[in-house]
Amino acid sequence: MQALVFTRPGVVEVLDVDEPEVGEDEVLVGVAASGICGSELHGIQTAGFRQPPLVMGHEFAGTLADGRRVTVNPIVDCGACDLCRQGLPQLCRRRSILGIHRPGAFAERVAVPRRLLHELPDGLSWEAAAVVEPLANAVHVWTLAGRPAGARVGVLGAGPIGLVCLEVARRGGAGHIAVADLAPDRLAMAERLGADAVGPALDGELDMIVDAVGVAATHRDSVSRLRPGGTAVWIGLMGDDADFESTELIRQEKRVLGSFAYNDVEFVEAMSIATDCELPWVRSFPLDEGAEIFTELMYGRSDVVKALLRP
Ligand SMILES: [Zn+2]
Ligand SMILES: [Zn+2]
Repeated sequence: MQALVFTRPGVVEVLDVDEPEVGEDEVLVGVAASGICGSELHGIQTAGFRQPPLVMGHEFAGTLADGRRVTVNPIVDCGACDLCRQGLPQLCRRRSILGIHRPGAFAERVAVPRRLLHELPDGLSWEAAAVVEPLANAVHVWTLAGRPAGARVGVLGAGPIGLVCLEVARRGGAGHIAVADLAPDRLAMAERLGADAVGPALDGELDMIVDAVGVAATHRDSVSRLRPGGTAVWIGLMGDDADFESTELIRQEKRVLGSFAYNDVEFVEAMSIATDCELPWVRSFPLDEGAEIFTELMYGRSDVVKALLRP
């Protein structure tokens, strides 16, 4: 079958690969749409968290042999470790993730543990189904921050994760949402999706700030713009340096939380949000154009916000 494969640092190629091995309690999903994630664009620069050769793709939906349409929670938890038993499957000590630790969905077919399947409601488009996974990340961010209805919310970065965080905060009853990004077209998109203020940087004082970028400057702004007692949630993975005034955390009781993935309850909530979500920032491409679009996104040469590969 055809697949987009991470073959060596900085390189993806469309190749003919073997059919997936289907393990016990697993099924084959015929992929209909699979989103390219920002974490993949940065993640393949070195062979670290992801080891080539690898078929990536963890944001996807497709069809089972019996015709049922499904999306998939790509976090394979063990269900037995102390963290799983505490209801933290995203932190499972034996966690593996489809498209990272085992083959993912940039392919015609992918093998999936049966218990990770979620049947799609009728009428949910493939585009929306493939965006459930990023939406679930945003539901988790909102939940970690205490679902602060009425809050003044700032979002740093208007890429896919920034935009879904905006969507979830708006639906969650945020009082005012400001979105910062350096790209004017992305700010225009945030405004279209209901941001109250947009600009190259956040202004004023905010109750909650999401860092959906993850570089030193956004780490710093996510803390400095918070009110005393406010909460920053870091989800962006672009860099690993944090340069901020750490005494502020103490004297002003600011909080910084890391956010990784989601649990199954949040995944299901994201499915219901996806059923009536406007997605003008999502575009589909045939799988055989996968290497071109992936590479353009990787070098920032494309203005597409979220690209889906459609085998
Ligand atoms: Zn992702
Ligand atoms: Zn576990």
